Amino acid sequence: MKRYFLSLFMGLCLSVQAQAQEFSALARVDPAASGIEDAWFGRTHLALSLSQGVPFRVFTLDDPARLVLDFREVDFSGLQASDLLAGDSRVTDVRFGAFRPGWSRLVAELSEPMLPEEIGMPVGRNDGRATLEITLKSADAETFAAAAGTPADPNWTPGFLQAAPSAPDDDRFVVVIDPGHGGIDPGAVNGGVEEKTLMLTFAQLLSETLRRRGVETVLTRDADVFVALETRVAVAHQVDGDLFVSLHADNLSQGGAKGATIYTLSEEASDAASAHLAARHNRSDIIAGVDLTGSDDQVASVLLDLARQETEPRSLALAQSFAGAMAEAGGPMNRRPLRRAGFSVLKSADIPSVLIEVGFMSSKRDLANLKDPVWRLGMVEGMANAIEAWRDADTQRQALVRQ
Ligand SMILES: [Zn+2]
Repeated sequence: MKRYFLSLFMGLCLSVQAQAQEFSALARVDPAASGIEDAWFGRTHLALSLSQGVPFRVFTLDDPARLVLDFREVDFSGLQASDLLAGDSRVTDVRFGAFRPGWSRLVAELSEPMLPEEIGMPVGRNDGRATLEITLKSADAETFAAAAGTPADPNWTPGFLQAAPSAPDDDRFVVVIDPGHGGIDPGAVNGGVEEKTLMLTFAQLLSETLRRRGVETVLTRDADVFVALETRVAVAHQVDGDLFVSLHADNLSQGGAKGATIYTLSEEASDAASAHLAARHNRSDIIAGVDLTGSDDQVASVLLDLARQETEPRSLALAQSFAGAMAEAGGPMNRRPLRRAGFSVLKSADIPSVLIEVGFMSSKRDLANLKDPVWRLGMVEGMANAIEAWRDADTQRQALVRQ
């Protein structure tokens, strides 16, 4: 069955007058004139009022049921989810924000299978204002599943921000730094501070510190954009990374979590809080509207497990190196700084990988530290020490193994 897919490029439809206006400026949302409302006969209306017409596309995803709208490009600042959601609706939640450079995304969670019945973006003749109008209609699960999927689109480039280096070189030592979350996925939010912003700052600082010491670095994102978990791992491979470090500072209310914690990959989480944290992180692709169907290949996973057996002790050694050097830099560390859980972003078979909760934003003390530039500098120095110590020890170990 043909996939339901609609890609409308409005550029041609805009009046000359509208084009003469600042075409490069982002379209802004008018919250007062936007909203989502259930109607009779299993229908739900969505209206998004924009300061100008923009190219967009609409598609649906299954498991869980979501409606995804991509725009080129919308400034969502000033819009709250509550502006769109009025009380009880078959649309249970919405998220929006930057997705990839030049693209914005809105993801609506659906309580039941619904497919777009009508889609339009009328543009005002005089003021150039546009309203994206979508009518969703209840569908049976089978029809919905058949229609779901991200449309193939040659204009849709993957979210790689940096070109791959030329040829892999054994003598190069490349650290891949992964600032957690980004774009449409803010991560933890506490008192107006967003995890995605804190971690980008932190990652850039770590990168600068390492570069000053002559260590090559690559960031999985260097801007406020969403990067899928799979892409983060792919970047590490593409640049032939020697180690992968994912940086986070989540809210974790369980057990009053506080202090830096370093996670390595495991099928079995070391405790309930770690399992909870991993489950929430692994959902970030779902939140951002990424199609995960067919991402579980049996043969591939067996091969991955084999490769992991060799990488696992190296990841553990890396985690220990971080725990030691970060404690030396003053921490504060979690009372059990080494933990294990099934984070998707750590599933790189042949690159030693750790996920560091630099602190927990749910802890007052940690949040104050994370916002403090002086504390950050000390912590980043500790991390750079950890990476260099691990590199030297690992080179020696590898030499021994080869003998
Ligand atoms: Zn996080």
